[in-house]
Amino acid sequence: MSTLAYPLKEQHWIDTAAELSKEFAKTAAQTDREAALPKENLRRLFESGLDLAILPVEKGGAGISFKTFGRILFEIAKGCPATACIWLMNTGAAETLIELSSPETSAKYLSEFKRGKRFANALSEPSSGNLFLNPVQEAQRLEDGVWKLEGAKRFVSGAELADYFLINVSIDGAPAFFGVERDETLEIHDIWDALGMRGTRSQLIGFNGARLKAENRLGPPSADRQNLIGLGLPWLSLGIAQSAYDALKEHVQRKKLGATGKPLSHAQWIQFETAAVHARLTAAKLLAEHLLDLADQGSAETNVVGMEAKILANQIAKDIAELGIRVGGGSAYTKALPFERHLRDSHAGGLMAYSSELCHIFVGQYELNVKETE
Ligand SMILES: Cc1cc2nc3c(=O)[nH]c(=O)nc-3n(C[C@H](O)[C@H](O)[C@H](O)COP(=O)(O)OP(=O)(O)OC[C@H]3O[C@@H](n4cnc5c(N)ncnc54)[C@H](O)[C@@H]3O)c2cc1C
Repeated sequence: MSTLAYPLKEQHWIDTAAELSKEFAKTAAQTDREAALPKENLRRLFESGLDLAILPVEKGGAGISFKTFGRILFEIAKGCPATACIWLMNTGAAETLIELSSPETSAKYLSEFKRGKRFANALSEPSSGNLFLNPVQEAQRLEDGVWKLEGAKRFVSGAELADYFLINVSIDGAPAFFGVERDETLEIHDIWDALGMRGTRSQLIGFNGARLKAENRLGPPSADRQNLIGLGLPWLSLGIAQSAYDALKEHVQRKKLGATGKPLSHAQWIQFETAAVHARLTAAKLLAEHLLDLADQGSAETNVVGMEAKILANQIAKDIAELGIRVGGGSAYTKALPFERHLRDSHAGGLMAYSSELCHIFVGQYELNVKETE
């Protein structure tokens, strides 16, 4: 990480996350193998106070900076990426519902969040998860201030644990966002036999006539509002990248190469490739830190810088995990070494919205001043 110091009161939260993450690392392979929700990890995060830390002090949070939030997520992702992903979705959905709901509804969400009730993002539609800002599922108007949703959302991380969902629908062709409480109209379908991030159990939810009430509809965000999930996603990939890099270093320094008797780290190609990925990992982390600095300043630049940071972070995670497979040889092709898990987990970041491809498209259009309508 950069040498920039974090304020002392914020360092406490980073240290807490780092300590917990060491424990999470011990069960990450099992969580993956069993595709089990890391409930115990999530409970410990809540009990440590980390869930609430991003909320302002007047709402009972610690008022930590976005920069500290990103570093916390990085620490958690190093130990267990599935835990980090659910934690990001829980915190991001709760923060959005608390900040953008009417005062009465916001007070309810805040009190529920403080009690440890869980939140999830149910934004990705089966037709395209990337177009979540322009949902195509139309809610039907039942009466004044009440709509009904017959539809489905896909890949909802931690869905089975969630008490409240942040959802998006189309109303008269325009996007609308609501908070929805779990009830009998929600049906969870087990679709998550996934390549990686198996502990997220990102299931499909059927909304079978879910009632969307005007009092639970979100208001428009202010111009300088920052999106916690967009800021966090690069750090999810960077945590995986760092974990793979640390394992790679440890492996090549320890493993002796047959007759030479020397550790693998003496192989020149490994030195060369280690330098190449380390330089790119450092660059990706610095850009992701810059993103969070901009967010702390309330800059609108975070839209495009966030996509650039995500592009670099998504790619370096895949590249380091792939290098791990090569240096680990046949054992890395098995579960004897952690690189196969890193490789599988590393692919999630580039698929999660906005996908790497869409990030490239948006950044390219911004740089070249191409307007979508042209
Ligand atoms: C581990 C994991 C956890 C997740 N957790 C959540 C969650 O908690 N909540 C949630 O709502 N979602 C979640 N998602 C969903 C995620 O954010 C994406 O929405 C989803 O992965 C996109 O998949 P899709 O099949 O809908 O892709 P699509 O959007 O259909 O994209 C398919 C392909 O088309 C490309 N593409 C899409 N649009 C365009 C375009 N306009 N131009 C050119 N190419 C395009 C994409 O780059 C991609 O290559 C999660 C996904 C994963 C993998």
